[in-house]
Amino acid sequence: MNDPVIECRRITKRYGGGPVVDDVSFVLRPSEILALLGPSGSGKTTVLRLVAGFESPEEGEVSVLGRLVSGPSVHVPPDRRHVGMVFQEYALFPHKTVAENVTFGLHRIGPRERERRMAEVISLARLDGLEGRYPHELSGGQQQRVALARTIAPRPVAVLLDEPFSNLDVGMRRRMRRELAGILRGNGIAAIFVTHDREEAFAIADRIGVMRDGRLEQMDTPQVIYNAPAAPFVARMAGTSDFIDAEVRGGLAVTEVGKLPVTSGNGALSEGERVKLLVRPDDFEALPHEKGPSVVRVQEFLGDTTVLEVEMPSGATLLCRQRSYWPLAPGTRVALVPETDKQFLAFSESQT
Ligand code: ADP
Ligand code: MG
Repeated sequence: MNDPVIECRRITKRYGGGPVVDDVSFVLRPSEILALLGPSGSGKTTVLRLVAGFESPEEGEVSVLGRLVSGPSVHVPPDRRHVGMVFQEYALFPHKTVAENVTFGLHRIGPRERERRMAEVISLARLDGLEGRYPHELSGGQQQRVALARTIAPRPVAVLLDEPFSNLDVGMRRRMRRELAGILRGNGIAAIFVTHDREEAFAIADRIGVMRDGRLEQMDTPQVIYNAPAAPFVARMAGTSDFIDAEVRGGLAVTEVGKLPVTSGNGALSEGERVKLLVRPDDFEALPHEKGPSVVRVQEFLGDTTVLEVEMPSGATLLCRQRSYWPLAPGTRVALVPETDKQFLAFSESQT
């Protein structure tokens, strides 16, 4: 029952040159929503195309419900994988109605069953009343739901969505991602979606895989990706990150703003070791202090919150979020007080 819906084992894809997908392994579990998060060019779309069967890996294997679909001398074509893909551009047929678009993949079943399934999927994708419209008569969000309805109509075991919100107005994205997550979760549809937007990944996914240069750097829950990133790159993908220099002394990190509780993601820290501490905007409170060693350089009032850029004695800066009631003006001297119980995560200096 809990067998993976999709499993990739050490897949590598090259287009002549170096690998664009490099030794990637992961599983998609039943009903799970997985996000692949990474900058442009990191190989996200290629992973989806490898899973869907539009490409073959040079190395590694892909299985769908335990059946090998890509591997040495095995290549099951896309339409035999029972995996649906929603393309970035939706790829709707412009001269077909919503109903015709949605039933396009249902040619293998009889007309009665096709009508029934269409009605079901139209309602599930909240397209009721739009069956007769053409794609150009729909909003971006509606077009996306038609693409989704068409993809799930043949009951795929999973759907793959490539940057599903990139064609939508910024204002609509938040609503659409809630709707999409609602449709997938409400129907127990397992999905992998690709994004370069961390907020989208955090808002929807059960687990997030962070990609860099074709490699899957870490895959875990949003909380772990944010709070315990395996590398500075993952930390930066997951949120605003500053790094401050520290030296480990007596189990604490000695920094220019004081001794801080420290922890390491990968093993014990040795006495005297030089490390970089990950600092997030919520980790320190900036308190006005006449003799404070640090000084506010920039105050960015964002309404819901205020972000201060604080310069430490060395000249290094970090961002500090504040409540907006009482933003501190540039030039204010401050002391940086760490959040109670905060353990700062240390990275070795060689990690980048
Ligand atoms: P992402 O979706 O993360 O932006 P892609 O998977 O589209 O990344 O691309 C990863 C890398 O592979 C890029 O450098 C891209 O130029 C290259 N690439 C993608 N498809 C092809 C192709 N068909 N031929 C050659 N190179 C490709
Ligand atoms: Mg892409």
